[in-house]
Amino acid sequence: MTSTERFLAAAEAHSAHNYHPLPVVVASAEGAWMTDVEGRRYLDMLAGYSALNFGHGNRRLLDAAKAQLDRVTLTSRAFHHDRFAEFCTQLAELCGMELVLPMNTGAEAVETAIKTARKWGYQVKGVPDGRAKIIVADHNFHGRTTTLVSFSTDPEARADFGPYTPGFEIVPYGDLAALEAAVDADTVAVLLEPIQGEAGVLVPPPGYLAGVRELTRSRNVLFIADEIQSGLGRTGRTFACEHEDVVPDMYVLGKALGGGVVPVSAVISSHEVLGVFAPGEHGSTFGGNPLACAVALEVIAMLRTGEFQQRATELGEHLHSELGLLVGDGAVDAVRGRGLWAGVDINPSRGTGRSVSEQLMTRGVLVKDTHGATIRLAPPLMISKEDLDWGLAQLRDVLEA
Ligand SMILES: *Cc1c(COP(=O)(O)O)cnc(C)c1O
Repeated sequence: MTSTERFLAAAEAHSAHNYHPLPVVVASAEGAWMTDVEGRRYLDMLAGYSALNFGHGNRRLLDAAKAQLDRVTLTSRAFHHDRFAEFCTQLAELCGMELVLPMNTGAEAVETAIKTARKWGYQVKGVPDGRAKIIVADHNFHGRTTTLVSFSTDPEARADFGPYTPGFEIVPYGDLAALEAAVDADTVAVLLEPIQGEAGVLVPPPGYLAGVRELTRSRNVLFIADEIQSGLGRTGRTFACEHEDVVPDMYVLGKALGGGVVPVSAVISSHEVLGVFAPGEHGSTFGGNPLACAVALEVIAMLRTGEFQQRATELGEHLHSELGLLVGDGAVDAVRGRGLWAGVDINPSRGTGRSVSEQLMTRGVLVKDTHGATIRLAPPLMISKEDLDWGLAQLRDVLEA
C-alpha cells in the first residue's frame, strides 16, 4: 500500500462521507503549489474556494499569525482585546461602511445577516412581528446550516434536512422583473451573491446588480451582498458589486478574510442596520478573536495596496481569453466568470467535470468540478503567469486527449 492509499483508506473508514475529494493527500504547500505525501507537486487552481487568495504560506500572514500566537489568542467577547477595535475600524473602512460584526465561518455570517435584516425589519422598517420576508435567488449557495439549506434549490443540499425555516422567497437569479414582483410590504431584504460561485460562477446580466440596488432602495428593503467567495480581490475589484458601482446595505465576508490561515467572517453595514443589536442578542465565542483579527488585519492591509485586484484583472483577462480559445475548439461549451475566476462547462464528448478534474490531477493540476459538467478555476491571485499558462496547457492537453 502506498502512503496515499493508507490515508485514503483511513479517511474512508473513519470520516463521514459528506465530501468526495480527489484522491490526493496534501502534506505541505507554498504559494500556488501543493505537495502530496509522496512528494508529487500540484498547481492549486482552486485556492480553497477563494479562501487562499494570497496563496499558501503567505509570509506576511504567517508572520502576523505567529506574532499573535505568542501574545494572546482568545479572550472571548466578555473582555476587550487590543486587536479588536483596529480590526473593526480597518474592515469598516475597506468596505466604506460603519460597523462590523465578526463571526467565524461564512454560514455564520450569512445567518447573522439574516438575523440583522429581520430585526431591522421589525424595529426600523415597522414590519409586523413574525412576518419578515427575505428574497433570495435560485441556485444560491449561502452555507450549510438548517436555515440556509431551507432556501437552497439544490436537492442534494436540502433533501431530508427539513422541517425548513420559513420566511424566504426564491426568485430566478438575474431576473429583475421577478424580483420586483416578489417585493412586498413585509420584505426586509434581498440576499444575493453578486456572482454565484457554487452554481458554476454565474455572472448576472449587465445592469442586474444596479437594478437590484435601485429597487431595494426605492422599496426600503436591505440589499445584502454575500461576497464570501466573490469578494476580496477575486474578480479584480475588492468587491464584485463594484463592477456595477453598487454599494449594498450589508456585505457578508468570509473565506479570504482569514487568508486561509484561520476562519474569519463578518457582516459589515451601517449604524442604522447593525445598530439594532443590543448586548446578549447575538454572538460567538470565537468571533473577533485576537488571532483572527491579527490575520484579517494583514489581509486588509494587502488589499489596500490594490496589487492583488490588479493581478486578478490582468491575469483574469489572460485566463478568459485562453479559455475562450477552448470554446472555439469545441472542447468547452461555455466559460463564465470575472477576474481570476472561471466556470468552464466541459463538452460532454470530452468527459465530465469529475473525469477532467481527475485527469488534471494526474498531470499535477488541482481543480474542483461542480454540477456534473463544470469545472471551477480560482487559482491564488499571486499565481505567476507562467504557472497559470502551464495549468491551462494541462487543461488543453486533457481536453484534446
Ligand atoms: C463558501 C460560501 C459560504 C459558506 O461559507 P462557509 O465558511 O463554508 O460556511 C457562503 N456563501 C458563499 C457565497 C460561499 O461561497
